[in-house]
Amino acid sequence: MNKLYKTLIYDNEVSLSVLETTDLVNDAIKTHGLDENSAKTLGGLLTCCAYMSGCLKSERGAVSLTVKGDGAAGTASVSGDINLHIRGYIDGTCGGRLKGGSLTVIKDDGFFRPFVGACELLGDDVSENLMQYFDKSEQIPTAVAIGVNIKDGKCTAAGGVVMQLLPGTKEENMDKAEQRMQAFVNAADVVEKYGADGILKEFFQGVVKEEQTYLLFPEYKCNCSRKKIEGVILPLGKAELLKICKEEGCVKVHCHYCNTDYSFTQKDVEELIK
Ligand SMILES: [Zn+2]
Repeated sequence: MNKLYKTLIYDNEVSLSVLETTDLVNDAIKTHGLDENSAKTLGGLLTCCAYMSGCLKSERGAVSLTVKGDGAAGTASVSGDINLHIRGYIDGTCGGRLKGGSLTVIKDDGFFRPFVGACELLGDDVSENLMQYFDKSEQIPTAVAIGVNIKDGKCTAAGGVVMQLLPGTKEENMDKAEQRMQAFVNAADVVEKYGADGILKEFFQGVVKEEQTYLLFPEYKCNCSRKKIEGVILPLGKAELLKICKEEGCVKVHCHYCNTDYSFTQKDVEELIK
C-alpha cells in the first residue's frame, strides 16, 4: 500500500513527509511497460508528485511536473490532485534518463492563477532536481531524498523523505534536520528495509507527535473518462469530426497517462452532437 505521512518536527519548525510509493511505481510499470531506467525516472517523478499533491489545500487543487530533455531526449510528465490520484508517462526515446533540459511545475490551488515554476535540470537525479526547483523557484529550503529500486523489471521499493524548513527555523533545528537527512542518502534502500511506518519509528522516535501526523494514501489513477474525452473532441465541431470518421473510420483519442484508447464512430459522433 502506498503511504504518505505528513507531520511537523523539531519545535514544529520543520515539515516532514515520509513516502512509500512502491505500488504506485509498479502500477506505472504495468500501465506503460517501462524499462528499468524509465521506471526509475518516472517512479521518482511520481513520488515527487505524490508529495506535492499532499501539500495541496483546495478541493480543486492539482499539480503537474513536466520534464523536457535536451536534444534527442524525451519528455516525462506527471500529474496529481488533492485526492492523491497520481499518473504520468515518459516517452521512450530518452532511454529513461534525464540529461539536461528543464523541469516545469504547474501548481493550481484552485484560487486565482496557477503558480508556474521552472528550473534547469542538473542531472538525472530526481531528488536533486526537485531540491533545486524548490530552492530557485519557490524559495523554500527543502531537502529531498527520494529513490526507486528496480529488480527484474519490478519495483522493490520506492519513496523517501522530504523536509521543508518553515520560515524562522532556528539554526539548531536546521542542523538537526540536515543531520537526520544523512540517513536517507540511499532513500530506496531505507524504504525497502523499514517501510514508511518503520522510518517514523526508527528515525523519528520521540520526535514525531502522533496527534499531529496525517496519513494519506496516494494511488496511480487517471482522471480520464469517456465523458471527459467527449468534452475534448466536441469543440472540433460536427463537420471536422465526421470528416475524421470518414477518412479514418473513427475518431481516436489516446490518453498517455493511463494508456487507454477511446474511439468514437460516426454513430457516436452523431449522438454526441445532438
Ligand atoms: Zn487516462
